[in-house]
Amino acid sequence: MPAFFKQKSAIFVAIIAIIAPPMTLITIKPLPDAQLPKPDIRKLAVADLAEWLAKNNFKSFHAKQIYKWLWQRSLRGFSEMTDLSLSLREALDVNFGFYPLSPADIQKSTDGTIKIGFKLYDNNLVEGVLIPTEDRMTACISSQVGCSLSCKFCATGFMDKKRNLAAPEIYDQVFELNQQALNNYNARLTNIVYMGMGEPLLNYQNLLSSVEKIVSPDGLGMSPKRITVSTAGIAKMIYKLADDEVRFNLALSLHAADDAKRNEIMPINDSNNLQVLRDALQYFYQKTQNRITLEYILFGNFNDTPEDADNLFRFSKGLPTRINIIEYNPVELASSFKRASGRVLNQFAAYLADKGATVTVRKSRGMDIDAACGQLANKTKSV
Ligand code: SF4
Repeated sequence: MPAFFKQKSAIFVAIIAIIAPPMTLITIKPLPDAQLPKPDIRKLAVADLAEWLAKNNFKSFHAKQIYKWLWQRSLRGFSEMTDLSLSLREALDVNFGFYPLSPADIQKSTDGTIKIGFKLYDNNLVEGVLIPTEDRMTACISSQVGCSLSCKFCATGFMDKKRNLAAPEIYDQVFELNQQALNNYNARLTNIVYMGMGEPLLNYQNLLSSVEKIVSPDGLGMSPKRITVSTAGIAKMIYKLADDEVRFNLALSLHAADDAKRNEIMPINDSNNLQVLRDALQYFYQKTQNRITLEYILFGNFNDTPEDADNLFRFSKGLPTRINIIEYNPVELASSFKRASGRVLNQFAAYLADKGATVTVRKSRGMDIDAACGQLANKTKSV
C-alpha cells in the first residue's frame, strides 16, 4: 500500500473511532484490487450496492441515488452526497474507497486542442485530449499506463506498460474532457476515441465496462455509435468484440499494408499479420455491421508511394471501411520517421479516392503541446 494511503487510512480510522458510534457493518466480498486501501465503490453494480445497503439496514433504493452521485456528478468524496443521511455517508466511507482521476496539468494548444495530464491514485499519469473542430468535439482517451506493444513511431511505445486503467479511470477522462468542452466551448462531447495511451483490447473488460458507463443513462448517456475503439491489431480480441456484439465502431491502426513494412514499425504484426487481421475485420463487420476505419499515418519515404497506396487499397477492397490518412507528428525518440509533405499526402489520398475508396485526411492537431496522435508520453508539467 502506498505510504500516503497507509497514513491517510490510519488517520481516518482514528477520526472515525472518535466521532462515530460503533457500527456493525457487513462487508462485501473483497474485490480483486488487493493493493487498494478499500474496495472501489465504482466497481460495484447498482444491484450489488442495493444488496449491501439492505444487509446493512439501509434502504436499498439509495443505491440509485448513490449511483447518480458516482457517475453523473464529479464528486470527490462521500461527504458530498448531500441527499444521503450522515450515517449512510459514514458507513460508505468506512467500507468503500473512491479513486477518481485528478487533472494535474492542463495545456491548451494554439489550435484550441486541450491536453490534460491526469494523476491516478497511485501517482501514475495518463493523458487525455480534447479536440474541437467545426462540427465535432472529440475526446481522445487512454486505456493503459504506458503500452507493451512498442510501435516504433509512437511516444507511448517507448514507455513500459505499467498497468491497465480501471473502468472508472477511463470514464473519468471522458467526464473531465466533457467538462472542459462545456467550460471552454459551451458544447458537449460528440465523439470519443480510444486512441490515447495503451492498447484498449489488452484491457478488454475495463474497456467494455467503461463504454457501458459512458452510454448508460446513469452515466453520460452517449450513443455507442459516437465511440471508436482503436487497436494496433489483436485479431483474437477483434473476434471477441464481434462475438460480444459490441455497438461501438472499430479502427485498425494499419500504417503499412504489406507485412514486411508493418513488421518493421509494429512488432505486433509478427503474430497478427495482415491476412489474419483482415479476416478478423471481415468477421467483425459480419457480426456487428459497425463501421471500420483503417488508420494510416503517412511517413515520408516509408509508406507513401503509389505502390503503398495500391497495397492499402487491396487491403481495404471488399471490406466496408473508411480510410483515414493521418499526418505524422514528429516524436523525439523516433527521429528516423519523417512527416510526408502535404503534396504527397494529398496525392496519396486522391489516388485512393480515384480507385473508389472512402478516404478522409486527418490534419495534425495540438502538436505544440505534444497532444497529437502518437505524441502522448506523459510530458505533463506540474503534478
Ligand atoms: S501506437 Fe498505440 S499500440 Fe502502438 S505503442 Fe503507441 S499506444 Fe501502444
